[in-house]
Amino acid sequence: MSLKEFKCPNCASPVVFDVKSQKIHCTFCNSYYDIEDKTHEGHDHTNSQVSKTKTTGGVFEHEKNFYSEEETNPLRVYSCESCGGEIIGDETMAATSCPYCNNNVVVSSQFSGDLKPDLIIPFKFDKDQATKKLLNFYKGRRFLPKVFKDENKINEIKGLYVPFWLFTGTSSSNMAFQGTKVRTYSDGNYRYTETSLYDVKRGGTIDFKYVPVDGSSKIEDILMESIEPFHWEEAVDFNTYYLPGFLADRYDLESEDLVSIADSRIKNSTIEAFEDSVMGYSTVRKVGEDYKLGKVDVKYALAPVWFLNTQWKGDFYTFVMNGQTGVFVGDDMPIDKGLKTAAFLKVFIILLALVFVGLFVYNKYFGG
Ligand SMILES: [Zn+2]
Ligand SMILES: [Zn+2]
Repeated sequence: MSLKEFKCPNCASPVVFDVKSQKIHCTFCNSYYDIEDKTHEGHDHTNSQVSKTKTTGGVFEHEKNFYSEEETNPLRVYSCESCGGEIIGDETMAATSCPYCNNNVVVSSQFSGDLKPDLIIPFKFDKDQATKKLLNFYKGRRFLPKVFKDENKINEIKGLYVPFWLFTGTSSSNMAFQGTKVRTYSDGNYRYTETSLYDVKRGGTIDFKYVPVDGSSKIEDILMESIEPFHWEEAVDFNTYYLPGFLADRYDLESEDLVSIADSRIKNSTIEAFEDSVMGYSTVRKVGEDYKLGKVDVKYALAPVWFLNTQWKGDFYTFVMNGQTGVFVGDDMPIDKGLKTAAFLKVFIILLALVFVGLFVYNKYFGG
């Protein structure tokens, strides 16, 4: 069986990755195909290169794998002429609008030379589920402008794979603290306070796996952070068959440029872990700290996100949902003042009518 061109071997129609079955699906003849497990074939090292980046502490090593020509054949790069955004998708996504700025004019080109992801978290929530979450989010927002609720607009919600760099390795630390324990007691005449001082030492190594740093500058960090974490332990080996029907954001931040961010994140969580282990004291003060980073392995990975941008009066309102966990956030929705006035008028008219009826009844019974 070959799906190389993302075509059904049975009827040659385009196929998509089906979220529910986690298989390749031909919607035309309703055939399902397993995604081949390529892990047993071994790595093709002819198409890879290793880069090393040194920091004060450790060495960041990244074995970079590149797409083969066969793999990129059915894939295109869509570039937005308006915002410069670049996304990867199959040929069937040609009619798509730019997920970042809604511009309709995207030009496609063959792509090559890009790094091939090592890992991917496949979508676990499908488009129907994402749409439901979105409509739920809109619920109770009575004055939401119509453009948000437009069915065509809602249908534009896109499944987008977001690039991440994952850092794995070992760090070690030796830390010294001074702790106090306070005891108070009384003998009837006096109250005594006894403060005992303790030298506390903590040391050891910590293995960390898949510390993520976002590889795309196009999606606001704050949006991504609010739908994180992704459960990276569920990531599987990357295969291009996870892509048909989805878009993949093209990374624009190289792993080498993000090493310092990873470095400080690893350092902070190492130190935090040791600090958290010092318990049972009234006060704790850090008096010494020694931190070392070992060799760090870098991997390129894709995470699934449902994404919708709605433009209203020149501003963008973004809805994002974690495609693995279902966690979602949306920008504060605007209020359509026209709609609000209309609703206010309606209430006012009803009140006025009630007052009128009230007056009428009053006049009828008590009026002279
Ligand atoms: Zn088919
Ligand atoms: Zn754009």
